[in-house]
Amino acid sequence: MLFSKMLIPTLREAPQDADIISAKLMIRAGMIRKVASGLYEFLPLGLKVLKKVENIIREEMNNAGGQEIILPLLFPKDLWLQTGRWNVYGKELFRLKDRKESEFCLAPTAEEAVTDLISKEIKSYKQLPLMVYQFGTKFRDEIRPRFGVMRSREFLMKDAYSFHTDEADLDGYYKKMYDAYFNICNRCGFKFRSVEAASGAIGGDFSCEFMVLAESGEEEITWCNCGYGANSEKAESIIANCIQEKLADMQEILTPNVSSVNDVSKFLGLSCEKFIKTMIYLADNIPIAVLIRGDYDVNEIKLQSLLGLNEIVLADEETIISVTKSPKGFAGPVGLKNIKIVADLSVPEISNAVTGANKKDSHLKNVNYKRDYNVDLVADIRKVKKGDICPKCQKEELQFSRGIEIGHIFKLGTKYSKSLNAKYLDADGKENSIIMGCYGIGVTRILAATIEQSHDDNGIIWPDNVAPFEVVIVPINYAHQQTKEVTDKIYEALSSKGLDILIDDRDERAGLKFKDADLIGIPYRIVVGEKGLLNNTVEFKHRSYDKNAVKFLSPQEAVKEVLKIYKR
Ligand SMILES: [Zn+2]
Repeated sequence: MLFSKMLIPTLREAPQDADIISAKLMIRAGMIRKVASGLYEFLPLGLKVLKKVENIIREEMNNAGGQEIILPLLFPKDLWLQTGRWNVYGKELFRLKDRKESEFCLAPTAEEAVTDLISKEIKSYKQLPLMVYQFGTKFRDEIRPRFGVMRSREFLMKDAYSFHTDEADLDGYYKKMYDAYFNICNRCGFKFRSVEAASGAIGGDFSCEFMVLAESGEEEITWCNCGYGANSEKAESIIANCIQEKLADMQEILTPNVSSVNDVSKFLGLSCEKFIKTMIYLADNIPIAVLIRGDYDVNEIKLQSLLGLNEIVLADEETIISVTKSPKGFAGPVGLKNIKIVADLSVPEISNAVTGANKKDSHLKNVNYKRDYNVDLVADIRKVKKGDICPKCQKEELQFSRGIEIGHIFKLGTKYSKSLNAKYLDADGKENSIIMGCYGIGVTRILAATIEQSHDDNGIIWPDNVAPFEVVIVPINYAHQQTKEVTDKIYEALSSKGLDILIDDRDERAGLKFKDADLIGIPYRIVVGEKGLLNNTVEFKHRSYDKNAVKFLSPQEAVKEVLKIYKR
């Protein structure tokens, strides 16, 4: 391919509104252009990478026994009403009407459509298990589209759906898909972690996210060297610093104008681990009290899924006063009536705790579980924090990293098959609901994540398997006859082995061509110049962090070197 014939509009500067390094570099390298907020065009270079990633995923899905299909992007409202997601999805769902005023949505995922298809086509256990997948554009009306194609309103996703007769079969297949995702991440050249995750709007009992490690990642992940991993919504830990003491008598103390845990802790000279924070929440509009140890924070997502709520928000001052009969900052569980009380596992362990007295400027000391207060439910509802111990090996301290979620796999169970009536007849002729799994991976997002993880000051550094071209040949002066001959020979030798090669044939200064080559990030660069050819050498260089990684080779040796790397 000749550079001069391709649409690769590189830019020296990134536009002002590009807010993350991958977006800046994708635009500067001429891979994408922004049409409107959260909407991008993929230009030839961007599409080439997208197709390479797509092929890696396709191979892994086919290896896992998947069959590729295409589902529509536009779905009728009816299906979405049946699963309840028309309402649950809220404003992220793009909704529209056709000319007959019938309502539709643009697919954010396709569980409804695929389950509907399977319910009509699968009748017997003999047709199961089955896995179908598609590459399809997905739509989400993001409240604030940002980070280029990382959080856009339209993006390419691979979604796969598996159908089983029983849980054990799903478990086995889930493991297979986990391995397929593991392979995809490795083949894309990622440093990554797989982590347990909350299932969110998709639902289901168990799910796992694949996280690419990057400082710019939106999610915090928690992991341990023993193999434990979870996202911040799900992470668990062993409670640190539990000190049991002999129970003392409860005592009221005046704390004028001091209400926050930190301030009261300083005022009393007691550590935060001695405190029970009492937070009043509105759980689907009904007030509840949530207790947590002073040095921890409530994980609202854990709380929401524990109680099966649609919404959980901190209560306003008025509600707090009506529930606790005191202003904000003095709530406590002792004597709290007519309200559901949920406590984190850390709370009953505190002996001689300090907590609000449900009275202005007052706290209680030496408060103890069961003796002085009771709760309706004790569960893990806290955010893990630095210093906490891993729940799996129960030995090492948990580690924290930032990550970019690129894949999410779910055991769905019967959530969709029940509501959409997807059943099969077993060997005894009995009707059962089909058991499902679903498996998503963000194809466009993989591009951005790769760049976030692999770039330097000069531009992108593509891993070998996903680079838009495997090699760029830069003739210093393509008009020079011998230079052109050698360039074309190398091109032929490599192309004939199925490699994707770009020749920068532009009539530009060498410096500018090198700058563009670094910006675009093709892994290997061969420079052909008149001077070198006097000694029958070309310059061979990897687009690495090491600026000195240059070799001077004969054109034939350079070809051999590339074929060795790509094993052709
Ligand atoms: Zn561990």
